[in-house]
Amino acid sequence: MGLFERVFHGSDEMIAKAQQELDSVIADLGESAAMSMPDTGYSLACINAYLGIKVETLGDVRRALDGVKGMMLREPRTHSIFQSGVGTAIAAEIIEACKYARTSAPYEGTKYHGHFSDSEVRTLGVPLVTGEIPGFVVMIGSAPSDEEAVETVKGYQSKGIFVFLLGGIIDQLERAGVTMNYGVRIVPVGPEIWGVGHIISLVVRAAMIFGAVEPGDCDSFHKYTFERINAFVNAYKPVADIVVACGAGAIKLGFPVITNDTDDMWAIPKSLIINENTKDWIDTSLEARGIKLKITNIDIPVAFSNAFEGEIIRRGDMQVEIDGSRVDCFELVRTADAAAVEDHKIEMIGPDLDDIPVGSRISASYTVEVAGRNMQTDFESVIERKIHQFLNCIEGVMHTGQRDMIRVRISKADYEAGFRLRHLGEVLYAKIKSEFEAVVDKCQVRIVVDADMNKELREKANVIFNARDARLKSLTDESVPVFYSCIMCQSFSPSHVCVVTPERLGLCGAVSWLDAKATYELDPNGPCRVVTKERCLDEVTGRFEDVDEAVFQLSHGALEHVTLYSLLTDPMTSCGCFECICGVEPASGGVVITTREHAGMTPAGMTFSEMASFTGGGVQTPGYMGHGKHYIASHKFLRAEGGIGRIVWMPKALKDQVRTKLDATAKDLYGVDDFTDMIADETVCTDDLEALMTFLAEKGHPVLEMTNIAELM
Ligand code: SF4
Repeated sequence: MGLFERVFHGSDEMIAKAQQELDSVIADLGESAAMSMPDTGYSLACINAYLGIKVETLGDVRRALDGVKGMMLREPRTHSIFQSGVGTAIAAEIIEACKYARTSAPYEGTKYHGHFSDSEVRTLGVPLVTGEIPGFVVMIGSAPSDEEAVETVKGYQSKGIFVFLLGGIIDQLERAGVTMNYGVRIVPVGPEIWGVGHIISLVVRAAMIFGAVEPGDCDSFHKYTFERINAFVNAYKPVADIVVACGAGAIKLGFPVITNDTDDMWAIPKSLIINENTKDWIDTSLEARGIKLKITNIDIPVAFSNAFEGEIIRRGDMQVEIDGSRVDCFELVRTADAAAVEDHKIEMIGPDLDDIPVGSRISASYTVEVAGRNMQTDFESVIERKIHQFLNCIEGVMHTGQRDMIRVRISKADYEAGFRLRHLGEVLYAKIKSEFEAVVDKCQVRIVVDADMNKELREKANVIFNARDARLKSLTDESVPVFYSCIMCQSFSPSHVCVVTPERLGLCGAVSWLDAKATYELDPNGPCRVVTKERCLDEVTGRFEDVDEAVFQLSHGALEHVTLYSLLTDPMTSCGCFECICGVEPASGGVVITTREHAGMTPAGMTFSEMASFTGGGVQTPGYMGHGKHYIASHKFLRAEGGIGRIVWMPKALKDQVRTKLDATAKDLYGVDDFTDMIADETVCTDDLEALMTFLAEKGHPVLEMTNIAELM
């Protein structure tokens, strides 16, 4: 059979299976049964993206499947096989959706992941733009041996490549004891090939969320995935026709397929690559997709990769724990005179792991001293905040907290591999020197494992932390000479621009004004630029002529006006990776805020995913706005609409996270005590507006004294 026939045959197989599953579920539940994948605002995303249909019932799915059949051309032309490939992906989504029609969590209790929530898609935003995730691989079938499966998957993981698995390779990794979950970026999607529907669903949602690609605009989807999503496929032999048909869909998206199957297979340059030496697949795949990796050599005996950031080290697996909650510990970055810093000096004071009993919780501190002509003390906290990420990238090390509230677990496996405390210093040295090379000329690290010394050193460190906090508090939008723009997310949201000010951090929550300043100083032509603030047109809404000019230029003309402090008038755009979203709630005249982590309903009658589908992709949507968690307690939050007194509902976990600062701001603005307790949460109501209004009235919430926000629109 020729390649064309194989694609057509494979896609017929997938469509027949979809028809069979759909008929069966409709026979059981009826055509009018509600249908949507869970935790998404895009229903069945492949159908939504390719056919422009937002499925609501099983009957809609039937109509979509009929539409797919109509797409299936059978001419021996490239266009026909690509159409078949796309139709195969949609049919795969339908087969999986039928499982979700019967039960909301069909993979619960299994090793498989299944559907990806919108919130999981959104977490990819920042690591994709920063290059922490340089690409994605979809691995299908079984590797020649369990050992090779482990070697290849770990090889991808150590390079930061996000790994999706389908079929036999999942069992191979399970047998070898490899940890698989979303956090470590090795995801066992499903046992059968139709699990690919979940992966394509994730990809097209990324295009809609980050790229504002409109449902039904197939050309724009393919342009987006080809240009912005570095994905590729590894398909182990034997490759069945149904897999070949999926491969045609992948190639249409711009994702090359690498296989070792030579039977009835025809190589297509840059798209379908036959390489029988599966041990070479990592290099072959990266080259085929044009992925270039930034390598930092770090002299440690275990792997180092962003993929290990989500790794959990359980108590029973830990060799030792640096435990700031019980004993004196801290991490600190300080600027020093060049003469006082010996580059690459790693000093250990006290015992290393060989002399510490296994399972101990120890007092330890690490102080990094940096020197450089362009170094500024303001950058100390910026560098210090990166320590969390740097240490978490070490395989077998888990870091949480910051300053004098840190907890670092080092695994027994690392100890056995030769990892010692001094290697923490090696990692800090290598990463700080490479990531901050424009400001750090010399760097040395001192690690102290001595409870008495650390008690004294911690007191001194706290004096420094307190002084930094005072400096940060003094930074207001009025007190600084300039703001900064950030366009890092333009690699996925081509017209999105964040304007970062001291009182309004980037909506991803990861870029403060100091971060943006440091990023600019590190690379003046990089993603952060100076935005002057000399021509203020309206202080209340935060409208500046020079900000408008910068945004117009940086959004390539897509955006003419933006205000810094308004939700209703020219609000700042959102790219897709926002931590929170706020939106108007007309009954109370206030706003609700919800977060990526909160999957439940809000009084706006929408979940996070549904609210988020109103904005994103660099589009301005008055009344809805993505923002960072720490912006909520800002004096500038919704200043044009009355400030934080507009907030009527937030998830409880978010309230607890921002409570201290939010209460302080409310006291400043309105003279109100314990304001956070006046805000409803899911324990008070979800979408019951009567319960919300009763609660607000009982609490004497300030919003009740304000003009209804709906009247300001
Ligand atoms: S500050 Fe804005 S543009 Fe920059 S990384 Fe964060 S969300 Fe993206």
